[in-house]
Amino acid sequence: MKEKVESLKAQIEEFKGKTSVAVEEFRLKYISKKGALSELFEDLKTIPVEQKKLAGQMLNELKKLAEARFNELQQALETSSQTIAFDDDLTLPTIPNKTGSQHPLNLTRYRIIEIFERLGFNVEDGPEIENDWHNFTALNFPENHPAREMQDTFFVEKPVRVDGGNPDVLLRTHTSNVQIRLMKNRKPPFRAIMPGRVYRNEAISARAHCFFHQVEGLYVDKNVGFSDLKQTLYHFAKEMFGKDTKIRLRPSFFPFTEPSAEIDISCLICHGKGCNVCKYSGWVEIAGSGMVHPNVLRNCGIDPEEYTGFAFGMGIERITMLRYSINDLRLFSENDIRFLKQFKPVI
Ligand SMILES: [Zn+2]
Repeated sequence: MKEKVESLKAQIEEFKGKTSVAVEEFRLKYISKKGALSELFEDLKTIPVEQKKLAGQMLNELKKLAEARFNELQQALETSSQTIAFDDDLTLPTIPNKTGSQHPLNLTRYRIIEIFERLGFNVEDGPEIENDWHNFTALNFPENHPAREMQDTFFVEKPVRVDGGNPDVLLRTHTSNVQIRLMKNRKPPFRAIMPGRVYRNEAISARAHCFFHQVEGLYVDKNVGFSDLKQTLYHFAKEMFGKDTKIRLRPSFFPFTEPSAEIDISCLICHGKGCNVCKYSGWVEIAGSGMVHPNVLRNCGIDPEEYTGFAFGMGIERITMLRYSINDLRLFSENDIRFLKQFKPVI
């Protein structure tokens, strides 16, 4: 007992805490109900009667000492908090503020929007879960078109047909549903782009995924011609990929446009000489386009004799891959921080 008291006495006298945490530590360790002193008072009960008086005196003195020391520490703390508020070393370097970076797909999307907004295009949005009419029928897809089959489209619901109409509900396969909703709900002229996520039941590889992002564009007005389409996309290609970029239109087929064309740009990597990105052709495909099919206009209640229009669609992933020389589309959705932090910070 005597040794314990001596040792505690030394500890209490030598205690050198200056922070509020240290003072609290002192209180808990020595004078709280579960502290060292209480333990000793407990021990006192087991001591033979003849020694109790002396031991009790020693303990009381120790208790007074501990309480006095605690008061002293508290007072020191109060005085010091009035002069210096904290013990931190102000000369230490700051902790770096780790902000995230913008996703490369968003960087491309913002750039595309910026270019088309300057040409007077609005940004339109629509649902990702869509019914057959907005995704296929209104766009002049024939009833037996292969895109309607299970292997291409994710169906949410495929109810039994009763009255000849098609009640299927699906994940949209393109953002053209937004074009349809726009044409159906408002009166022309329209000049809008529709960025958004789309879904197709495709095997996942370096070049394809079961979901990806598109930007479609639509311009409907009186006297809109094919030359407007060509000039708009030429302007876009130069703004997006550099002023020396050339474009090429190849005849194509889509149910919703007539005539239709695929848009190629001159290869950014080899500038036309031939490389493995352009498969040694000097050209890279970036978009599909065409004049809006009269049936599509009619389906949306627009008179094709009065109004004409053009539409185009491109994959944001594809353009981002060209822009940043990314060779695997899966990188966009794998959340690999080593890949993502290479892009422009948020601030
Ligand atoms: Zn090339």
